[in-house]
Amino acid sequence: MSRFLNSALDALTPYTPGEQPQGGTFIKLNTNESPYPPSDGVLNILGRAEAEKLNLYSDPTLNPVTTSLAKRFGVESKNVYAGNGSDEVLAIAMYAFGEKGFSFPDITYGFYSVIADFFRIGCTRPKLKDDFTIDISYYMKNDRAVIIANPNAPTGIFLPLSEIEKILSANPDHVVIVDEAYVEFGGESAASLVSKYENLLVVGTFSKAWNLAGARLGYAVGSSELISDLNRLRCSFHPYNINRLTLLAGQKAVEEEQYYIECRKKIIFTRTRVQAELESLGFTCTPSMANFIFARPPMGDAERIYKALYDKKVLVRYFAGGRTKEYLRISVGSDEQMDKFLDALKSIL
Ligand SMILES: *Cc1c(COP(=O)(O)O)cnc(C)c1O
Repeated sequence: MSRFLNSALDALTPYTPGEQPQGGTFIKLNTNESPYPPSDGVLNILGRAEAEKLNLYSDPTLNPVTTSLAKRFGVESKNVYAGNGSDEVLAIAMYAFGEKGFSFPDITYGFYSVIADFFRIGCTRPKLKDDFTIDISYYMKNDRAVIIANPNAPTGIFLPLSEIEKILSANPDHVVIVDEAYVEFGGESAASLVSKYENLLVVGTFSKAWNLAGARLGYAVGSSELISDLNRLRCSFHPYNINRLTLLAGQKAVEEEQYYIECRKKIIFTRTRVQAELESLGFTCTPSMANFIFARPPMGDAERIYKALYDKKVLVRYFAGGRTKEYLRISVGSDEQMDKFLDALKSIL
C-alpha cells in the first residue's frame, strides 16, 4: 500500500476471483463459465471490419444491446440497463439504492459484501436455514434494500417467484435486486414482474448462460425510473462503459438464443448425470438449478479433496470457513471434462 492511498480505503478486502490459470492443462471447473463457444453469428461479426472501427467510441446509449434485451423480455428499452459485466451493474445499483443499507443472506455471492464495503454501505446478513434455503421471514420485517441471488450462489437453490413476490410486497419502500446470473439453467425469471413492482430490479449476465464471460456484459431490467437512476450514475462515471465489440456480440447472441438454449439443455443434462454419480459415491448435493453442483463429500473433507483434485489438474472451487467448508462447488463442464473430473475424484476417494 502506498502512503498516497486514501486512508479510508486501507481496510478494503478485495474479492478473490476463482483462479484463471493461463496454460491449457487444467480442467477448469471453478468459475462457472460455459464449456461451449459463443454462437456462429457472434464469432462472425467480431471480424476485421468491426475491429477497424475501434478508433471510434462505443455507443453511449447502449441501444444495440438494450433494444434486443427489451424485445426478449417483452419490455421497452427504457426498462433495460447494461453494464460491463453484471458485477458493474450490481455495484452501480447498490450505490444507487443503498442509502439505508442492504440485506442479503449470510451465504451468497461474495461480491455483494465487497461492493458494500467499497461504498461504505451497511449490510445485514440473515442466515440461510440449515438446508441452505432462504428464510424469507426475515425479509418480511426488513428496513433496507435487499439483494437475492436466484438461484443462489454457491448453493444453486432457486427461490420460487411466489416467495420473491412476498419479499417485494413486504418492502415497498426499498429496492429488491434479484441477481439472476444462473436463472436460465432451470429457474424462472422475475423480469415478468417488473411492471407489477416498481421496487424490483432484475440483474442478469452474459457470462454464464450466454457463453460470453470474457466479453464482460451484464444487464438490469426494471421500472423506467430505476433504469434512469442507473443511467444517471453511469453517465456520471463511465458513459462508454461497454466496448463496441461486446455491444455487437451481446446483440447477436440475443438474436441467436436458440443456440444458447441448446447449450443450456446440454449443461442441465450433464448436471443431472454428474450429480447422480456423485450421490452414488456418497456425496450430498443441494438441488442445484445452476450450471454448478454444490456437493459435500461423504466425510466432509472438502478441502483435502479440493487439493487432491488440484494436484491432478482439476480445478474446482472451495470456500473455506463457515457452513460452506465441507462443500465443493463444481462447475458443470462438457461431458468429457466431467468424466475426467469423475475419474480423478474416484482415484482420490
Ligand atoms: C458470476 C456471477 C455474477 C457476475 O457476473 P459477471 O457478469 O461476469 O460480472 C453475478 N452474480 C452472481 C451470483 C454470479 O455468480
